Amino acid sequence: MKTMFYSITCCILFIIASGCSDSTKLESKAHKLSTNEQMTVFVTVPPQKSIIQAIAGKYVHIEVMVSPGKEPHDYQPTPKQMLALYSAKAYFEIGIPFEKTLVAKFKKMNIKVNFIDMHKNTKQLVYDINGKTTIDPHIWMSPIQLKTLCFNTLNALIKLMPQHKVYFENNYKVYIEKLDKTHKELKVLLKPFKGNTFFVFHPAFGYFARDFGLNQEAVEIEGKEPTPKEFFNLISKAKRNDIKVIFVEPQFSQKSAQAFAEAIHGSVISINPLSENILDNFLYIAKELKSSFSSPKRNN
Ligand SMILES: [Zn+2]
Repeated sequence: MKTMFYSITCCILFIIASGCSDSTKLESKAHKLSTNEQMTVFVTVPPQKSIIQAIAGKYVHIEVMVSPGKEPHDYQPTPKQMLALYSAKAYFEIGIPFEKTLVAKFKKMNIKVNFIDMHKNTKQLVYDINGKTTIDPHIWMSPIQLKTLCFNTLNALIKLMPQHKVYFENNYKVYIEKLDKTHKELKVLLKPFKGNTFFVFHPAFGYFARDFGLNQEAVEIEGKEPTPKEFFNLISKAKRNDIKVIFVEPQFSQKSAQAFAEAIHGSVISINPLSENILDNFLYIAKELKSSFSSPKRNN
């Protein structure tokens, strides 16, 4: 009996002790992971994740602020995300307006997250819409710009974890090789269609169009559905260009795109600028564009 009592007490003591050591272990593990082995970083959109993941590999855990299916332009971080940001090592900015508000908030709260300008030295597309200048924030939608994003990421990672410099540099080289290969394929696919126009619902493909000498025409104007007059003008323009396809992103109104497609006796094709696997996505988009341009109904 005494032995049994002794062993039960031991057991309880052991549970209490292991409970304690578990939480201290967790704490020290979290500390160790965040400072030495693996760091948590935040990104705004999924394509950033694939770049950072490719270069940082096992040393990073990535949280995406705007999950797939959500529209990033006017995004509001959830309280849970704000809390998680506290323990993150860095936030990789891509230049979407809400990030500025976020940075300002964190600076005010004196929170030490490294805000990294992932889109530094990229050439932004600036539109003049009704006398108002607007910067196209979909900076990642370009194989040329992507190279700059990768380079900025590499430099940031080396600063954050200098001990893994060689590992990051090797991964970077491998990713750039893949990017170059994809870029070559894209050029082959799209070269015959230089100067062609494609219609999209939301203007997220301006950089892609610029890289390959294409013209993007958007149905949505400044984040708003077009007025009936603007809609009519767009339809005439599409008909003049013999457009048979309207591309629409899954985050946006399929109904308006459908109405547009019906008006031009064409079809709606879905393409997503927020797909995580950005290189495969580029190829997918190029193939869809190519087949829309090669439509037998076209007369160019
Ligand atoms: Zn957008």
